[in-house]
Amino acid sequence: MGTIEVHNWFGDVVWTPSAQATPTSVEEIVAIVRDPIAYPSPVRGVGSNHSTTACASAPAGTTLFMSAMNKIVSIGTDTVTTQPGALLKDVAEELVKHGLQFFVNIELGDLSMGAAATCGTKEAAFPGEHGQVSSYCIGARIVTATGELLQITEDDGPLLQAFRSSYGTFGVTYEVTFRVRPLQPMSVYHKVYSLEEYLAALPELTASGQSLMMFMDPMRNKVAVEFRTYHDVEPGQKYSHWQWKLRNFLWKDIGPGWAYLTRRFIPTKFLRSLSLGALSAITFPVLRLVIRGNNTLAADQQIHYPPVANDCKYTFIIWAYPADRYPDAMRAYFQFCKDYYKETGFRITMPSVGYRTFEDKSSLLSYSYTGDSITIDPVTTPEPGWEAFQQAYSRLGQRFDGVPLLNQTNYLTRQSVVTAFGDRIDALERQRVALDPSGRFLSPYFSALFASPVT
Ligand SMILES: Cc1cc2nc3c(=O)[nH]c(=O)nc-3n(C[C@H](O)[C@H](O)[C@H](O)COP(=O)(O)OP(=O)(O)OC[C@H]3O[C@@H](n4cnc5c(N)ncnc54)[C@H](O)[C@@H]3O)c2cc1C
Repeated sequence: MGTIEVHNWFGDVVWTPSAQATPTSVEEIVAIVRDPIAYPSPVRGVGSNHSTTACASAPAGTTLFMSAMNKIVSIGTDTVTTQPGALLKDVAEELVKHGLQFFVNIELGDLSMGAAATCGTKEAAFPGEHGQVSSYCIGARIVTATGELLQITEDDGPLLQAFRSSYGTFGVTYEVTFRVRPLQPMSVYHKVYSLEEYLAALPELTASGQSLMMFMDPMRNKVAVEFRTYHDVEPGQKYSHWQWKLRNFLWKDIGPGWAYLTRRFIPTKFLRSLSLGALSAITFPVLRLVIRGNNTLAADQQIHYPPVANDCKYTFIIWAYPADRYPDAMRAYFQFCKDYYKETGFRITMPSVGYRTFEDKSSLLSYSYTGDSITIDPVTTPEPGWEAFQQAYSRLGQRFDGVPLLNQTNYLTRQSVVTAFGDRIDALERQRVALDPSGRFLSPYFSALFASPVT
């Protein structure tokens, strides 16, 4: 208990709850939920607090740190069940020992399994699969607003679909089950294109049966595509790990470290911009020439970041574009970055990224609910002017029918989520109200987007 300020991992979302707790059992969660005097509303679970929006915030309410409930409960032939505070990479490494892997292996190895079940995530999808971790959540146990225990399973159809997009507003999640798949070797390689070469090749690339992730440098008009495919295990084959170690070292350490040193030691805007351009000029060829392999492991993609963010921290904003709007959105985004730099002197310090996903109705607020989509995500280390840049980029996102993620896209309004999700936002809200009419778990952040008053 206490009134200590809480902030997200990057440090740009801050709130002061009236109460805090780190429950170690479901009984403790029940007792907290049933005691609104000691634990005022909203009661909000927190996983590893990496969200870039205020989705976990509980101003004047109760923050529940779920990190102590971090056990793997069981591993079956094609499922894994965990407590909510277990982290994706830790679970993925345990699955490997059982010859299994997750379907979706997002970069953030610190993603808590509780958040993974109910939040948006982004990752390049493989043909026939989905790009969101929550799409493979097939069961959960939650503590509801009255302190009852509720189990949600695949038999609950629409409830499970809504739960996968509920961001903790249905209750405090205390156990989750995910479908997993047999471990398979994964090949990876990269190609570098100019923007127009990339857009011309896109129909062929999207039909090529590979997953597609993009690194982009709009200032230099360059796109590096990361291709991945699974293949059968060959006799005597060994997994190789160095490719993802090197790739993640470039992404997690070299890129942000370079950006930090550039800001700290290079005095003029012009020279700083040259230095940031040199980063992609050096790293994109390394991706193309060096980082390739046939027998890599999907779990190796995931990164554990330092628990307390250091000078190499970075953040981002995401909008996902319908496949038919994406080429125009890419051209507009590249031009926007150049124009914005000319007009304001601000540029993001890291390569932007993008992920291709296929149509996926598994969660109600899926960003590829109506068809295939590709994201465009500006990434940066701390820079004055990032807030205004996000707002300007969000206007571009909406102009090209972009869809946001409520935990990863800042500056959303009721209007922008209605435009993006249509009736689905109200369908989610109806399910939420049915479970939590008094708003025990409803924070001001979600109340504004769902258009329900906080009680
Ligand atoms: C450096 C960095 C890299 C990233 N890379 C990726 C990436 O590659 N792909 C991607 O998809 N995302 C990425 N993200 C974003 C991140 O994955 C998401 O924001 C995700 O939600 C964070 O998980 P978390 O465990 O930190 O969740 P939190 O931020 O702690 O919580 C997310 C939401 O879930 C709720 N919640 C959490 N646990 C519970 C519970 N047990 N019961 C009820 N509600 C709960 C919270 O209230 C909140 O609404 C990245 C973020 C950073 C900072």
